[in-house]
Amino acid sequence: MLAGKTAVVTGSTSGIGLGCARAFAAEGANVVINGLGDPDEIEATRAAIEADYKVRCTYSPANMLSGDEIAAMIAEAEETFGSVDILVNNAGIQHVSPIEDFPVDKWDAIIAINLSSAFHAIRAAVPGMKSRGWGRIINTASAHALVASPYKSAYVAAKHGIAGLTKTVALEVAEQGITVNAICPGYVWTPLVEAQIPDTMKARDMSEEEVKRDVLLKAQPTKAFVSIEQVAGYAVFLCSDTAASITGSVLPIDGGWTAQ
Ligand code: NAD
Repeated sequence: MLAGKTAVVTGSTSGIGLGCARAFAAEGANVVINGLGDPDEIEATRAAIEADYKVRCTYSPANMLSGDEIAAMIAEAEETFGSVDILVNNAGIQHVSPIEDFPVDKWDAIIAINLSSAFHAIRAAVPGMKSRGWGRIINTASAHALVASPYKSAYVAAKHGIAGLTKTVALEVAEQGITVNAICPGYVWTPLVEAQIPDTMKARDMSEEEVKRDVLLKAQPTKAFVSIEQVAGYAVFLCSDTAASITGSVLPIDGGWTAQ
């Protein structure tokens, strides 16, 4: 379905982003992966995508804290492949802390990586999409773009912000064949979720099992984690012709969490 297209997925060295990169490659798109991690592992991930799906895959080390590096990532992708047709703004970090103790540097980093990086990537990718009259911009938001949880002030603020950015850009490019949507997963079992368990145990004085049952899955009526493949499949669907009229939408995939 996506042969001849190029997808840039930020934060795709693990978790949801890697799932999206693999799902786009499975549909025939060339992909640019991005993110932090061990260089040998990243190279193995990149090579595996090429081998498994017979597409081209490159790696951009752009740090999502840097607007200049993000712009360079998009320019390089356009130069290598001729276009950036699909952009998934997915990189994200989390920090869990009561507001009065929330470290200022963590606030700044979360706003930069989870929100501002999408602004930098979108502004760089939109001119090419406009010139070709086709584009798909997908922002990995969160159920936390729609509802809040305590102790996640920066994350919830950034995710609500990305919902606003999604709607705004969607209106600006609506007549140019470009759709802009936010996918809002509930809890997906990835390194990001695993890493916040110790801080949540501390902030709420709970055991690991209590955090999983009484904090994470308590929010989800299905009592099950959303899978990476389900989120990636949603992203692929948004790139289909069937989804051409879905734009400016903030779309939950959250096991019923935000229905409550
Ligand atoms: P993850 O930790 O597996 O992946 C995060 C990715 O972002 C990694 O590739 C990491 O290297 C990259 N990254 C982090 N800081 C970066 C930086 N400065 N520059 C470049 N890359 C950077 O986490 P995940 O759960 O797959 O999260 C992906 C997205 O999904 C995030 O935006 C997250 O907020 C969102 N999300 C996750 C869940 C969940 O339950 N896991 C739920 C809703 C939304």
